[in-house]
Amino acid sequence: MNAAVTTELKLIDHWIGGESLRGTSDRSGPVYNPATGEQTGQVSFASVEEVDRAVGTAKAAFPEWRTWSLSKRADLFFRIYDLFDRHREDLARLLTAEHGKVLSDALGEVQRGIEVIEYVCGIPTLLKGGYSEQAATGIDVYSIRQPLGVAAGITPFNFPAMVPMWMWAPAIACGNTFVLKPSEKDPSASLLAAELLKEAGLPDGVFNVIQGDKIAVDALLEHPDVAAISFVGSTPIARYVYENGTKAGKRVQALGGAKNHMVVLPDADIDMAADAAVSAGYGSAGERCMAVSVLVAVGGAGDALVDAIKVRLPKVKVGDGMDPDNEMGPLVTREHRDKVASYLDSGPDQGATIVADGRESAPNGNGFFLGVSLLDNVTPEMDAYRDEIFGPVLSVVRVDTYDEALRLVNENPYGNGVALFTRDGGVARRFQFDVNVGMVGINVPIPVPVAYYSFGGWKSSLFGDRHIYGPEGIDFYTRTKAVTSRWPDPKTSKVDLGFPQTR
Ligand code: NAD
Repeated sequence: MNAAVTTELKLIDHWIGGESLRGTSDRSGPVYNPATGEQTGQVSFASVEEVDRAVGTAKAAFPEWRTWSLSKRADLFFRIYDLFDRHREDLARLLTAEHGKVLSDALGEVQRGIEVIEYVCGIPTLLKGGYSEQAATGIDVYSIRQPLGVAAGITPFNFPAMVPMWMWAPAIACGNTFVLKPSEKDPSASLLAAELLKEAGLPDGVFNVIQGDKIAVDALLEHPDVAAISFVGSTPIARYVYENGTKAGKRVQALGGAKNHMVVLPDADIDMAADAAVSAGYGSAGERCMAVSVLVAVGGAGDALVDAIKVRLPKVKVGDGMDPDNEMGPLVTREHRDKVASYLDSGPDQGATIVADGRESAPNGNGFFLGVSLLDNVTPEMDAYRDEIFGPVLSVVRVDTYDEALRLVNENPYGNGVALFTRDGGVARRFQFDVNVGMVGINVPIPVPVAYYSFGGWKSSLFGDRHIYGPEGIDFYTRTKAVTSRWPDPKTSKVDLGFPQTR
């Protein structure tokens, strides 16, 4: 932190009330190009006063914003969709520059975020309430959905465009105003999003960005004018945000870390499973909360699966994400790369077998690279199994039976995603019934739900009772009001309303 700022460094600011705002605290942090290891930017870290200013601006914008008609809001979101669609490449380049993921993957991230914008273009339908006519004689009861006020989003480094879109798109479409606190590691995409929202015609103050770290997060958690907090990040911080946010009376959804298993049964199509394991284990250098981290090879599947993966590994091209030939980029920081690489020491020390050591295949230079790595014969006691590695190190755990595989998955403290590879529909159906995980893939390694379902894990992968985006996102960002109403029947009214009187 507080690295020397040179004139070449890009200064990354806050966005409050429809304009960029230079930070006034004396705190800031470095932003790197992970492919070269060079510092490229310096991001301001907000003070408590700056957070208060952002929340105050969002609060002031709320009364007017919530009066916008549903059709006007839908029109605006179609314009937002159009602008983000036209700026896909610009957003993706920012992601590659600060996060490191390859450009094709960054474009995929932007696409999945835009799908949430597309979903909320249907906001008039999504906000429909219920109506019961004649609940009692002359009495109707109906429910309406109303926004909460100021909602805040706190997001992780690994999806700097998509995860914020999971939050701000439904929150704003529902009539809330929004304060985003992006990851300090790759903060620029949020500022481009802010500019695009302004260009689309979103009123100033409805969307605000404060850059920063724990101080900004704590200020949001404590702020009396923040009604709701959406968090995505690691499990310890998710728990912290959930506990402190709810203690302060806020509605909180806090999505945490993961350890995703891919169970491969002996009858599976091994080539299909190996292709899936490579793309889901090493895509985005394993820095996805839905990345496959553990391959659970059942019965005879182990040798064939490890052999099939082994022949695929040398073909994965690792290098600068801006080069379209590369399929896997660097890790986000040097410290994180070193931590991930340490499992290639602790794994064998604790009894695992190294099939591929990414330290040997990493490109030369100062970039934060680690090549694709595979550990076999991992057991549940080992650190490589217990920790969320969040890097390109896949572990293979061998078990004898389906029941053992299921027990392993269900006893794991995380429950984000899981995949089953099999040719047997009956077993697949039983698995989806039995497994204690929030998102399940059948012959699909990364089962991220489409935008009209909701995304969320179970157990230590989510604190709160609403998953994110989709129908549960609409629920999260609204509260319902039930109205019971009685109007005098004009036919029996003593006042002459021009209706023919029957008595
Ligand atoms: P992180 O928990 O370190 O940071 C997330 C956010 O919390 C950032 O904005 C950060 O500034 C803030 N933060 C960090 N430390 C804090 C502290 N002590 N107090 C208050 N705020 C703090 O996570 P990360 O490293 O940015 O992201 C990777 C993690 O996110 C992984 O664990 C991954 O599984 C998880 N993740 C989960 C999902 C999901 O949907 N469940 C999606 C993406 C990422």
